[in-house]
Amino acid sequence: MLTQAPKGTKDILPRDTHKWNFVESVFREICERRGFAEIRTPVFEYTELFSRGVGETTDIVQKQMYSFADYDGRGLTLRPEGTASVARAFLEHKLYAEPQPSKFAYEISCYRHERQQKGRQREFHQFGVECFGSADMLADAEVIALAADFFAALGVRGVELRVNSIGCPACRGGHREALRAFLSPKRDALCDTCKTRFDRNPMRILDCKSPVCGELVKGAPSMLDYLCDACREDFAALRRNLDALGIAFEVDAGIVRGLDYYTKTAFEFVSNRIGAQGTVCGGGRYDHLIEELGGPPTPGVGFGLGIERLLLLMEAEDARIPPAKGADAYIAYLGEGAKLAGLGLLRRLRAAGLRAEMDGPARNLKGQLKRADRLGARFAIVIGEEELAANAALLKDMVSGEQRRVARDEILSALAADFRERKE
Ligand code: ATP
Ligand code: MG
Repeated sequence: MLTQAPKGTKDILPRDTHKWNFVESVFREICERRGFAEIRTPVFEYTELFSRGVGETTDIVQKQMYSFADYDGRGLTLRPEGTASVARAFLEHKLYAEPQPSKFAYEISCYRHERQQKGRQREFHQFGVECFGSADMLADAEVIALAADFFAALGVRGVELRVNSIGCPACRGGHREALRAFLSPKRDALCDTCKTRFDRNPMRILDCKSPVCGELVKGAPSMLDYLCDACREDFAALRRNLDALGIAFEVDAGIVRGLDYYTKTAFEFVSNRIGAQGTVCGGGRYDHLIEELGGPPTPGVGFGLGIERLLLLMEAEDARIPPAKGADAYIAYLGEGAKLAGLGLLRRLRAAGLRAEMDGPARNLKGQLKRADRLGARFAIVIGEEELAANAALLKDMVSGEQRRVARDEILSALAADFRERKE
């Protein structure tokens, strides 16, 4: 037990962190260029925020939250998603008083007690964006475009964009009744979760992962046939905007998001290359969330993008990820005197901005050169007894294998010249 991470969590080891750093830096840049400003919120919040903000009838709130009582008895929950926290911060700091829309971006860890599978963990990570304060479908298109541009910038091709409208409270009632009428004769065959969804929120049955329910909902009435005039016009505007942006999409009436406060736009980026958990990014509009949390009526739209699933997809596609950078120089030495001379040099190399390494206790030279190789060092600097006496060192090019003797005072300029040459 002591040597095992909790079920559903994963260490991210040094051999993989460069992948994370890469997608993080690309995401940051994409968001910055579009005016989505980074926001950071706490890992835990008061439990009510999520029961309200995510919605009482959702799977997350009903059975997946990591909730606990604080020492003073207050209920806290590890965030299962990001939108509710950002909405809370937006209200707490009265950001709605600033010029709107407000655009936010974040990277977070999330916690949900789920069955562990490929692409489904209990601690996982998301990139997310939220845009508050605009009811215009331009905002929806911008949010979708941001995700599309992110995938493109990473060279990920195997994702398809599916969009839908799930209407508003005004038009959803008609669809809900039609859906109940359609499912009523099949009710007993539904999975247990969906049996309760039938009463509370039958639309969510369309999103059930059980293959049995998936069969039963085939041919179910489509929300798109029940949209009110305003929702129908908005959905048409969204499609026009996406066309104008040159973003390919498919209309899929089966896309239903998990949160209770979603309205109108719902979308997913899906892939068939990473197994059953194929939704890499999901989002939509939530025009009643802020109000539900006690704020002024404020429309909003955003998405969450699973980083583990993104990396699985990039792996499946063999997408290019820049390799981790190796050391610039590794100092190898023989004897105490050479070691002390090496330490002085080590510090000078680092002060000059080079990535330099040296280890103790010294193995034989062969062992040290092997280590330099393993560290991906561009150069090895060898100080033996002879070099020590001559105030020199051997400078070995680890790629070509060439080596030459250089005065120790001139090593820095020799390396600098070499790095400059290769940059040009
Ligand atoms: P799913 O339908 O796969 O359960 P969801 O609808 O619950 O996803 P959201 O709450 O919308 O997902 O979260 C957005 C994204 O976060 C998902 O599209 C997915 O990429 C990722 N994600 C969600 N839950 C997990 C999890 N347990 N493990 C890993 N990634 C996840
Ligand atoms: Mg889920």
